[in-house]
Amino acid sequence: LAQLFRPLDMLGWVYRTIRQGIIDMAAMFSLMDTAVEVADVPGAPALVVRRPGVVFDNVDFGYERDRQILHGLSFEAPAGKHIALVGPSGAGKSTIGRLLFRFYDPWAGRVLIDGQDIAQVTQESLRAHLGIVPQDSVLFNDTIGYNIAYGREHASDAEIERAARGAAIWPFIQKLPQGLETEVGERGLKLSGGEKQRVAIARTLVKDPPVLLLDEATSALDSQTEQDILATLRRVSEGRTTLAIAHRLSTIADADLIYVIQDGRVAEHGSHTALLRHDGLYADMWTRQLRDEAEEGEAIPEPAQ
Ligand code: ATP
Repeated sequence: LAQLFRPLDMLGWVYRTIRQGIIDMAAMFSLMDTAVEVADVPGAPALVVRRPGVVFDNVDFGYERDRQILHGLSFEAPAGKHIALVGPSGAGKSTIGRLLFRFYDPWAGRVLIDGQDIAQVTQESLRAHLGIVPQDSVLFNDTIGYNIAYGREHASDAEIERAARGAAIWPFIQKLPQGLETEVGERGLKLSGGEKQRVAIARTLVKDPPVLLLDEATSALDSQTEQDILATLRRVSEGRTTLAIAHRLSTIADADLIYVIQDGRVAEHGSHTALLRHDGLYADMWTRQLRDEAEEGEAIPEPAQ
């Protein structure tokens, strides 16, 4: 009987691995049409992370040969620090995230984690050290417990609960009649944008990665939910090297270091205050956003007396 089940176990493992790969990609890119083009080099060692600093070293990259997107891009996210990548639409911010996960290889230059070129280590070991809280979290048609535990195989119920508490979604789960066993997704309970974000955050906590990519994690939420989620994310990114891709500058003003990306290059970098003082592109973007927010505020009609 055991012999019969071993291949089934194996199949189950393959299935879960593929599912995990698919959801990682879907989560990151919302573009399933991109083929994964990279392969492990023969005999590649595993990535070993002691101090999870991330370095982009003179990276050139484009999706198509005749259209270069990143031009000699260099920046550093020191271990345990929180950096933000901001810049105009199309500047290359999400592309940086895709290269970090090694869904593509640079044309030239290197991406390093703790001094190791990520193109030279196994993809499995690389992605085991990376977490992502995407714009739009993908949920399986499965239980909420499964959706959280998917961050790591064999997570115990106690670990799932701890992660759900950390992501501040435990009170919500507790109120569900079937708790962690509640079916969610298309065929089950529909979760709100904020609840889905929290499931994604809980997943990250179960996985416990040293490097975390936040992809404008709060874009689709109302401002109260956004504030709550931002507070949770701040807690969750404590002690991890965090790269936040942001459109709304107010969400990253407290980052240790902000890189302003323009046309695939670092145009400016520094703290929020230093960049405002510099009075360049970042200061322009900041002023424009403040003005837009003020105008949006004015556009809200006064309630009738
Ligand atoms: P946004 O702020 O609008 O999300 P971004 O700074 O994240 O923009 P990227 O998504 O990195 O920008 O895109 C950089 C450039 O690469 C854009 O010109 C985009 O059209 C192009 N691009 C992105 N994905 C692909 C792809 N799969 N194939 C070809 N070109 C792509």
